[in-house]
Amino acid sequence: MSQLVFCRGCGTEIHESALACPKCGAQQSQKTDTNSNWIVAVLLCFFLGFIGAHRFYTGRIGLGIAQLLTLGGLGLWTLIDFILLLCGKLKDSEGNYIKN
Ligand SMILES: [Zn+2]
Repeated sequence: MSQLVFCRGCGTEIHESALACPKCGAQQSQKTDTNSNWIVAVLLCFFLGFIGAHRFYTGRIGLGIAQLLTLGGLGLWTLIDFILLLCGKLKDSEGNYIKN
């Protein structure tokens, strides 16, 4: 069963997965809420970031494994992720920003 939403630009019914309206071309907003809890991600990154725990938590398994194997890029990668998280600039597996 297809889910229909209304275009933000012209109001035409379009499929919810459409990135842009086929009629007027307006960019459609992606789902803005994420399943990941910001504070949980922050705590995981702070305490277990060196094994990529925050990446596993936010569904980015590939990056999590990479961080696990490199010990979070010897801490540097984890540090960058931590700063991005605090700024609300880290994305989960669906491309949504994880924010407070
Ligand atoms: Zn439209």
